[in-house]
Amino acid sequence: MTEYPRAMLRRFAILEHSDLVHAITTRHGGVSQPPYATLNLSFSRPDDPAAVRENRQRVYAALEIEAARVVAAGQVHGSDVLVVREQHAGLGALGPSPIRPPADALITDRPNLFLLACFADCTPLLFWDPVRRVVGVAHAGWQGTLKGIAAATVAAMRTAFGSNPSDLRVLIGPSAGPCCYNVWPHVAAAARQALPHDDVLRQVGDQTHFDLWAANRAMLRRSGVPDAQIETSAICTICQVADFFSHRAEQGATGRFAAIIGLRG
Ligand SMILES: [Zn+2]
Repeated sequence: MTEYPRAMLRRFAILEHSDLVHAITTRHGGVSQPPYATLNLSFSRPDDPAAVRENRQRVYAALEIEAARVVAAGQVHGSDVLVVREQHAGLGALGPSPIRPPADALITDRPNLFLLACFADCTPLLFWDPVRRVVGVAHAGWQGTLKGIAAATVAAMRTAFGSNPSDLRVLIGPSAGPCCYNVWPHVAAAARQALPHDDVLRQVGDQTHFDLWAANRAMLRRSGVPDAQIETSAICTICQVADFFSHRAEQGATGRFAAIIGLRG
């Protein structure tokens, strides 16, 4: 993991390559006021839209990408995957994503198109196929995770672009970690049902914690992604609320950070 000046962006070893632009943003380096301080990147929050636009522009500038080449996911806690093409360029880059129907995962083989999704405890998944030259981003909270968005994204990369799952590199980014992510009994039951053979729940006193990282890793492995090609950031947003927005740690009054990936033109 590399820290950049002002720690606005973090990058991860599994995706470090001259073909790629990728980053997970932190909450630092923006202009939003509390409780969105400072780098809130989501237009879905009741933050000043002008501040969010300025924050987005700062991130694009830091990554040396143009807003007109960014495409933002429409996030509804589903598992639909959208194949992003040239005609989508710029959608949701500097305002709410107008992509309909909304899709929580975006994939593309187009160079110089940058896929973006926003997070505050849900798990960012970033995908890269260095052979077919395909990238993807997915928004996997407990709902998306249990609906199988990780597997759906791998399947869509194969169908749309001929990706072989054994070639993929995947980052499981910062999210609510197994240390903190206490879930309601109906969520634990759904996790047990979706992943009966995997160790994704942990009893902590009278709480049941759901391990989003292990659940997504299990689904990726079952889809054919080699374990050695999956990196977990191991950053818990609830523990590390000083650096990342956390819906849980901040009782809902917070912003969103972003995961971004694209192939260089
Ligand atoms: Zn934690």
